[in-house]
Amino acid sequence: MVAITWTSNLSLLLQGLSVALVASLTSAAVEFKHHNNTELAEVLQRIHNRCPDITRLYTLSETSVNGIPLYVLEITDNPGKHELMEPEMKFIANMHGNEVLGRELLLHLADYLCEEYIGGNQEIRKLVDSTRIHVLPSMNPDGWKIATDSGPGKDFLIGRSNANNVDLNRDFPDLDKIIYSPGNEFNNHLMDLVDHLDHRVQPETESVMKLIMEHPFVVSANLHGGDLVANYPFDESRNVMNPTEYSVSPDDETFRFIAQTYSTNHPRMADPQAKGCDRPESSFGKQGGITNGAAWYSVAGGMQDFNYLSSNDFEITLELGCDKYPPASQIKFEWDDNKQSLLEFIWLSHAGLKGLVIDGQTGHGIPNANIHVRNITRVGKYERRSTDIDHDIRSVHNGDYWRLLTPGEYEITVEAPGYAPQSKLVEVDRHVHEEAPILNFELFPLPATPDYLPYDVSPLMDESDMANMNYNYMEEAPRMDYF
Ligand SMILES: [Zn+2]
Repeated sequence: MVAITWTSNLSLLLQGLSVALVASLTSAAVEFKHHNNTELAEVLQRIHNRCPDITRLYTLSETSVNGIPLYVLEITDNPGKHELMEPEMKFIANMHGNEVLGRELLLHLADYLCEEYIGGNQEIRKLVDSTRIHVLPSMNPDGWKIATDSGPGKDFLIGRSNANNVDLNRDFPDLDKIIYSPGNEFNNHLMDLVDHLDHRVQPETESVMKLIMEHPFVVSANLHGGDLVANYPFDESRNVMNPTEYSVSPDDETFRFIAQTYSTNHPRMADPQAKGCDRPESSFGKQGGITNGAAWYSVAGGMQDFNYLSSNDFEITLELGCDKYPPASQIKFEWDDNKQSLLEFIWLSHAGLKGLVIDGQTGHGIPNANIHVRNITRVGKYERRSTDIDHDIRSVHNGDYWRLLTPGEYEITVEAPGYAPQSKLVEVDRHVHEEAPILNFELFPLPATPDYLPYDVSPLMDESDMANMNYNYMEEAPRMDYF
């Protein structure tokens, strides 16, 4: 049916003209080539100029050793601020200066999000409006220049480190040491336990540590090259005697899901027929394109484990191909192969559940509430698992929280000093391209009893409580539909 009046036709026509005019003046149109450090900044600036309402270009606190700013492009509906319950995610590439593909892919990703947003792609609009995305295409611009000047791809190592010859992916505080130490009882935000660092970190590392601490990231990826696999925590071996032993994290199921989301949306990463980079007969495709970090090789002081152990962020490491410095002619092909994986990865920030922790008397949000999860998924007709996930996350600024989880049934317990703890049962289902369902908690202050010891609380629920509960909460709580 055609029922458009001439006035709306005219306004549509005028809109179209002005869009075309703006496009011809400012189109970012990122070329398929290797951009040097100056060109990289120019591309980000052009994307920002083209999409000023949904982007913000900022630099990290420090420059590289040689004084090059570390540029981040933020892409979201209200750039520059954290919005209540809107998840934040990040991509960081080119931490190893000679691993250059991620750097170009992130420029193309930023350009794509901008162009599709203004072009009216509803899926992309939904994604950008509901997510705060941060993109750092080069964490190590000095290494990139060293690698490029030496003749790209000539050597497997030149340009890997920064200008002080430090491997930035070994430069982060080694929090695995704390988590692996006998008797340790802490399972999150471990930087709270560190009063001084055992070495002076590089400026690039310091900048990213501050970024991690300043933003409530939910999920992130660190883009590398040299193999084709999505690598998940833990990266550091528990056992020096057995350095390639699988080092399982409390969120192993969720991390495997995150890694598989990338690998299975990539046409080659999860292909069991693909040839391996080191030996043709042993590709990671045979194991779905994913690997536990430690089971591959141990990394101490890496960025991936640091994110998980110092913040709420779940980070994985992406190895994007055998060739660390592919020829420019390959970049278009690689963008086509990685585009869907990158987009689906952003959507992962909406997996699991989210909500608010508020004071039931004042209605104010409670930051730093501890959110603990027990997996109680049915394993048979009458049986349930009862596995504590020994990695708590914390509510942030205004009491908002996000908890990535795979489909199943869970007991979520929220505790904050001075308040009575609260537990809810919830079912998490698979759902695609939707915001996480909301599960809020209202906490009430504990009565002031003189002999009350805030940390001497009895277990919230034991097995007999569970049996008597009848899962009333299951009806009260929203049904969890996601992934
Ligand atoms: Zn690397």
